[in-house]
Amino acid sequence: MHEFFIVQNIIRSVEECLAEYPGKRVEKVVLLIGKFSGVEIDLLKTALDFFKKGSVIENAEIVIETEDLKLKCNECGKEFVKDKWDMMCPYCGSLNTTVIAGQDMLLKTLELVED
Ligand SMILES: [Zn+2]
Repeated sequence: MHEFFIVQNIIRSVEECLAEYPGKRVEKVVLLIGKFSGVEIDLLKTALDFFKKGSVIENAEIVIETEDLKLKCNECGKEFVKDKWDMMCPYCGSLNTTVIAGQDMLLKTLELVED
């Protein structure tokens, strides 16, 4: 259940941000989850519901966005999106490609308002 640790990390990050803005509260949190980050969205939601109680994000709107796997070809320089794990460039057939998005999860946006 590494989603539980992820959520704890998210809450810690939000707390750290919030500490720099006294008198504000969190209105909205946007999480960006790469489709190949290994994060189970359902488990993440369960973990969020569990851990947000009593935390800085308890009353915040939480939005989860997913991100496709995006690669860049090192041979022809083109960028492309895949919906399954496939490293091959569709333009030139090269396997010399680099993942540039879709493998991470991050705290994309944090909206704060006056408390
Ligand atoms: Zn290519």
